[in-house]
Amino acid sequence: MMGNQPVIILKEGTQRTKGRGAQSNNILAAKAVADAVRSTLGPKGMDKMLVDSMGDVVITNDGATILKEIEVQHPAAKMIIEISKTQESEVGDGTTSSVVLAGALLAKAEELIEDVHPTLITQGYRLASQKALEILNGIAITVKADDAETLKRIARTSMASKGASVHSDVLADVTVKAVTSVAEKNANGTYTVDKDSIKIEKKTGGAVQETELIKGVVLDKERAHSRMPQSVRNAKIALVNAALEIKKTEVEANIEITDPSQLQAFLDEEERTLRRFVDQVKGTGATVLFTQKGVDDLAQHFLAKEGVYAVKSVSEKDMKKLAKATGAKIVSNLKDLTKDDLGQAGLVEERKIGDDNLTFVVDCPTAKSVTILIRGGTEHVIDEVERTLDDAIGVVGTALKDGKIVAGGGAPEIEVALGLRKYAATVGGREQLAIEAFADAVEVIPRTLAENAGLDAINVLVDLRQAHEKGQKTAGINLDNGKVENMQKNNVVEPLRVKTQALQSATEVATMILRIDDVIAAKEFKAPAGGEGGDGDF
Ligand code: ADP
Ligand code: MG
Repeated sequence: MMGNQPVIILKEGTQRTKGRGAQSNNILAAKAVADAVRSTLGPKGMDKMLVDSMGDVVITNDGATILKEIEVQHPAAKMIIEISKTQESEVGDGTTSSVVLAGALLAKAEELIEDVHPTLITQGYRLASQKALEILNGIAITVKADDAETLKRIARTSMASKGASVHSDVLADVTVKAVTSVAEKNANGTYTVDKDSIKIEKKTGGAVQETELIKGVVLDKERAHSRMPQSVRNAKIALVNAALEIKKTEVEANIEITDPSQLQAFLDEEERTLRRFVDQVKGTGATVLFTQKGVDDLAQHFLAKEGVYAVKSVSEKDMKKLAKATGAKIVSNLKDLTKDDLGQAGLVEERKIGDDNLTFVVDCPTAKSVTILIRGGTEHVIDEVERTLDDAIGVVGTALKDGKIVAGGGAPEIEVALGLRKYAATVGGREQLAIEAFADAVEVIPRTLAENAGLDAINVLVDLRQAHEKGQKTAGINLDNGKVENMQKNNVVEPLRVKTQALQSATEVATMILRIDDVIAAKEFKAPAGGEGGDGDF
């Protein structure tokens, strides 16, 4: 630039920010996202009410949900939101923590940037993150798959910060039963948990305590005809993706009928076709039929007469769950349906839940499939229960798979900070400063937990550090009284992976953002022709 003729390589209207400008801009955006969710962290965190452009309201404390609903523009802010999604899909919990941690790592880096080059900061951060993982692994506690009590404590800890936590006893119980009943033991002794085997069905009405686990599949569908049996024992189940209807002609066709007997013949033919469909089903020995398509009134009548329980318009997702649970094969052409395609269930039954009739497919012999039927007074309540269960299923599943947990309430973060400060001294140089900054950043978790509980964060941190110096590795904060206590004894436990994943992805995104010193943004599609050809900074 300095007096030389600039060579223009970018398209007109491209926005470009360079150097410190770009860095502080990105850091600012990332910190703003972290600040947006910070006040929700922990059991004493506040809720947020989100109103979308359609006026729909969501009240939640769930970091991932909040970040999903708010629309951000800034690319660095989007990167931060991305880690909450990773956290959600990898472990199901710790979303707020990961974002808050990333924000803190960047804030601390910003303080250092005057003295330490960003490359050295990122190097220091990487070393610190590796060391932190080691420390976390060192304090992990083993949990056994049959230790239902500990698994329930893990579920309850993840629920502590949710609105539905008042019902955490019932919900933790349902969660642990659901996860353990679908868990499969591998040859090497580890467990696999397929979250898709747990179906969540919601029905307003009743109380949250009435939320229950059903060993089988529950469909929000009633039987097609009231004269069909209301319950079928030892059901032989057919799953078809075919309509039991006469195909409507594509073009409008007129059939000229000149004689009343012709009309009768025409109707008879229709009836015969439908009859054939039903005979086809009945011929296989099926006593229950689920179809993704429709069923003609007359076919319904025939099925009812044959004593077949039929459900129409079942969603594809539910069909797959049914296939898994009953061992049936989904057949797309009715003609191809045979005895071998049928699945089984001890009982298929219609039950009235609230004002609606639901179909229960239970006592399935072949596969592990369960449904959690959520009850609650209003739509908002059951939605928050669903999010709560989703997190809880995630953490219990993770704990079962990994078999490792840590105490929560700020204990692991203080332990990591303490270990990192010792480690920093051995590294020396500028990187030492970065590792120390990392240690300070990690303490954002206990600090925020305390702040959100209305406690004096500085005092709490001093007490926590003291306890950990004395070797009390599970010392965390009792948020009710501000005292430092043994979190494991207080039953505040979380999967190890919630912590390691949050730390890893926060470090990754923070270092990625720190290394950016040039932002080149293409002209926005709808923006007025703006690029006035200045020297870059906007
Ligand atoms: P995230 O989205 O990160 O899971 P949460 O709002 O669920 O955020 O808060 C999680 C934090 O709250 C964890 O650090 C956890 O250890 C802490 N926590 C949960 N229950 C308690 C409790 N009873 N006492 C102290 N800390 C708790
Ligand atoms: Mg949580």
